[in-house]
Amino acid sequence: MLYFDHNASGPLSPAAREAWLDAQERFPANPSSLHRPGQRAEAALDAARASVASHLGCREAGLVWTSGATEAAGAVFGHLAQQAEPGAGVWLSAVEHPCVLESAERAFGGRVRRLPVSVGGVLDLGVLEVALAAERPAAVAVMAASNETGVLQPWEAVQALCRRAGVPFVCDATQWIGRLPAGGMGGCDFVFGSGHKCGAPVGTGFLSVGASPFRLRPLLCGGPQEDGRRAGTQNVAGAVAFAAALADCAGRFAGIPERLEWRGRFEEGLCRVLPGARILGSGEERLWNTVAFLPPALADCRQRWVVRLDAAGVAASSGSACASGKEQPSHVLEAMGVPAGDADRVLRLSGGWETGWTEWEEVGRRIGGVYARLGGLEALKQA
Ligand code: PLP
Repeated sequence: MLYFDHNASGPLSPAAREAWLDAQERFPANPSSLHRPGQRAEAALDAARASVASHLGCREAGLVWTSGATEAAGAVFGHLAQQAEPGAGVWLSAVEHPCVLESAERAFGGRVRRLPVSVGGVLDLGVLEVALAAERPAAVAVMAASNETGVLQPWEAVQALCRRAGVPFVCDATQWIGRLPAGGMGGCDFVFGSGHKCGAPVGTGFLSVGASPFRLRPLLCGGPQEDGRRAGTQNVAGAVAFAAALADCAGRFAGIPERLEWRGRFEEGLCRVLPGARILGSGEERLWNTVAFLPPALADCRQRWVVRLDAAGVAASSGSACASGKEQPSHVLEAMGVPAGDADRVLRLSGGWETGWTEWEEVGRRIGGVYARLGGLEALKQA
């Protein structure tokens, strides 16, 4: 099976696996316990925290371990809503992940404004700048990279605008972390990510609270772990594996230009085998691992492409994993102006660091085969 669904979840990296097994054996104690095994577990947790904090360029003391991005988003918006002036709302890019949209909706009782994106899926900075000059929301949230299209958002520019306006900035960095250098992210007021998108185990993640002077209101309450910001016994081996996975990814960043070249070559080939296909976000800066495209419409298209590709030995996605199974069109594609009638044909391929050019080439061949079987060759001949 050619696995092209890393934006949904990726395999455990060998570096993370080794670190996880080692930590699981060496640090079995509760890091809050006062005995020596407990202290050793706490030291391992803190070493992992220091490593991830240095990767993000954030304060160690500001980094809170979570079970993933969804939990972090719930904590951030719950906290922000409690700090906000009565009646204040929150502004989000229209292409945020559902964990951001839903957490914000719930915490702010629907006082949520969606900021528009271009047809390429990029936030309109001008609209944000004008809006910030007129009004002061409780926070602005813009993701770093889209899970559905791989399009990169101008998060550094948003961070600067928010700082100037004195508005907290929240950045969902889940798809960016481990794929692109993240050294400037510590400057965001809140930034979070999930381990399983970058080779660490599912159930690991972080929230960095930047230099915020206030205390984070915990989403989970109970014990005083994580400096009172997240109750519950920490996942020491998971945190150690997360740090190892990130360090491993960072060692591969020199390979980004080559992977961007593969992506470009793949897209050129794809447009040759699927004439009329449209690459979403083409022309915009995008993650090297993601290609989202709209294949041409065919008469016999009742069975979804994802199912046909699965039968051809390719694991792809029809959009975000969280959205699959739902029949309504993706809000991301809608915000990019993709007509509802086309949106259900959109396919997303997302590779990992281990995905080589031969896999990209082979997936292109198999997509061409599926297209031919669907009657695409006839359509081509008749054109
Ligand atoms: N944010 C983005 C951009 C994502 O892609 C995802 C998962 O697909 C999440 C948040 C949620 O991550 P998790 O399900 O690990 O909590």
